[in-house]
Amino acid sequence: MLSPTELLADLVRIPSVNPMGRTDLPPAITHEGRVTDYLEAQVRLLGVEYRRQPVAPGRDNLVAHYRPPTAPPATLLWEAHQDTVPVDGMTIDPFAAAIEGGKLSGRGACDVKAGIAAMLAAFARLVREQPPGSAAVTVAFTVDEEHTFLGVQELVRGGLAADFAVVAEPTGLDVVTAHKGVARWRTETAGRACHSSRPQDGVSAVYRMARLLAAVEQYADRLAASRPDPVLGPPTLSVGRVLGGTSPNTVPDFCRIDVDRRMLPGESAAAALADFEAAVRRAAPDVPFRSEMALDCPPLAAADHPLVAGLGRAIDAVAGRHSRHAVPYGTDASSIAAAGVPAVVFGPGDIAQAHTEDEWVELDQVERAAEVLFRFARGAGA
Ligand SMILES: [Zn+2]
Repeated sequence: MLSPTELLADLVRIPSVNPMGRTDLPPAITHEGRVTDYLEAQVRLLGVEYRRQPVAPGRDNLVAHYRPPTAPPATLLWEAHQDTVPVDGMTIDPFAAAIEGGKLSGRGACDVKAGIAAMLAAFARLVREQPPGSAAVTVAFTVDEEHTFLGVQELVRGGLAADFAVVAEPTGLDVVTAHKGVARWRTETAGRACHSSRPQDGVSAVYRMARLLAAVEQYADRLAASRPDPVLGPPTLSVGRVLGGTSPNTVPDFCRIDVDRRMLPGESAAAALADFEAAVRRAAPDVPFRSEMALDCPPLAAADHPLVAGLGRAIDAVAGRHSRHAVPYGTDASSIAAAGVPAVVFGPGDIAQAHTEDEWVELDQVERAAEVLFRFARGAGA
């Protein structure tokens, strides 16, 4: 079996760019299929039970199981995403996997192929060594984390037979136990189109949206001033895009805003949208509108589970120390936690390197992450 560093180098050399809705990217670098094939070949070599779980055409999660010879004290789920963000503007060869000064560089090196490599190496070592008393481990390498979370949603839809999950993201070998959630919805106003030379004959959806937007801005201000979480801060709302109209000489019959709402633990996307609609309706009662949810990544609340301490002990044994903290970015962990499996985020690398023009990861961290995960599974019954 390959070392974590060898696995990481192979994975970075295989592009798995998430087009994130774009159509201008070459097919030779987009989507996860080539990485899935590679991971499948690796787990097939191990002789374990695995399956490709179809998510979208040509996009599969890969799920593999290690079942120890004796009854396991727990079943762990290790999850990492196969996709990366695009490579525009990168100042290095994104797929060269160059190693220099203890760092491996390339797109996905840090986010999150380093995490895949650590998880797969630790998984392979469990299969090879079969340490007595170890946990059962399911590895799930999912698609589309960087855009619409399709992979993890399909993973949880099938039901998760696990007691505790570790989701790989670059945490610098610390444990992330909480983050905000994200809800995104589209809100539309309608109008009546007519020729712009007789605007009095029509109803402008854009003017309607302008009145609505004034109410939305006030609502966003109130939200930002509302009860802050001591660690995560307040909930927030932002309008990221306005679309409307068809031509300069037509009174527009359509306008749409794309709303991004960051949620605290305890909030749900449905309740956030309902509150938004009620507030906007109060402030602009004469403006008809409709909303449609586009994305729901729930918040992650602090996992209070004995296996959080177990993971912490494994980190301390390998890295000497660790911290538990919250982060501002969202991860697949919250979807897994919402499906009933307590989840934390852990992995090699620094989030500051994710999505950057010269993305890299410290190889020492990748090797240590693999050691941590192996020890965590081995000691899960302690
Ligand atoms: Zn990531």
